[in-house]
Amino acid sequence: MKKKKMLLSQKTMDLDMVRKVEQLSGTSVRRCFQCGKCSAGCPMATFMDHPPNRIVRLLQLGQWQRILAGRSIWYCVSCETCSTRCPNQVHLASIMDALRKLSWDQDGPSKESYVQLANRLFLENIRTYGRQYEMRLAAVFNVKSGQFLKDMLLGPKLLSKGKLKVFHQKNKNMAEVEKIFSRIEEMRRKGEAL
Ligand code: SF4
Ligand code: SF4
Repeated sequence: MKKKKMLLSQKTMDLDMVRKVEQLSGTSVRRCFQCGKCSAGCPMATFMDHPPNRIVRLLQLGQWQRILAGRSIWYCVSCETCSTRCPNQVHLASIMDALRKLSWDQDGPSKESYVQLANRLFLENIRTYGRQYEMRLAAVFNVKSGQFLKDMLLGPKLLSKGKLKVFHQKNKNMAEVEKIFSRIEEMRRKGEAL
């Protein structure tokens, strides 16, 4: 397959984004000198379209749209191996966090936006019921992702084994759950959390 050439110009280099990622992650993108130690130790690099060191390079070149359009940031498991191995104190795990936050705020355009949808629905359920309601999670996910019959055959098996409940039980301590969500929102407003 013919590889698409990357064109670089003042126009394509959005350095404001570099500053934004540095501010959100609290680490320097510009310090990276591309030694590759982060990618060599990353347990998820083989599943990523851009390995961790390339993520930093693309950022340095202002090519953040390419990062958000790919899957790498959603395959990162925040193990922090990359940050530990970096000889230049680039905290790549925090950069990945910042990029997920930016992608989340923009609602894509990641090809892996189903991951965002699943995350969103998961948290909505926790906030509404105080615990996970798998039946609702699966049903709403299938409708919103347009995959109406996804995992349909698994449903009856899980129901028969009692692993899936048709009706949910709400947590009795919803006020405490709401406090947690409100606190996180407050921290985000103050810039204390991503
Ligand atoms: S280990 Fe650090 S300096 Fe080396 S490529 Fe990764 S981020 Fe850059
Ligand atoms: S934090 Fe993410 S990018 Fe870094 S080594 Fe772990 S999986 Fe790879």
